[in-house]
Amino acid sequence: MARRAAPPMEEILHRLRAMEERLARLEAGRAPPGDGRAAAPAPGKKPVKRCIGCGLPLRRRAGRCAECGLPLSRSRRS
Ligand SMILES: [Zn+2]
Repeated sequence: MARRAAPPMEEILHRLRAMEERLARLEAGRAPPGDGRAAAPAPGKKPVKRCIGCGLPLRRRAGRCAECGLPLSRSRRS
């Protein structure tokens, strides 16, 4: 019965390290280094400005929220 030669310990450690790095990367949901996706911001993570009145993504219309009509006065005229 021919025994297959076991891979050298160095090789095993190298593979183990690579696997651990890959696992950590996958758990964090990151793309591998050198991959263009790593530099791109994750979709849907962009902070969207919301209306403080209705909580919907802010769409301005004539200085007011288009949804609820809340005045969006940064420089409030008194
Ligand atoms: Zn609103």
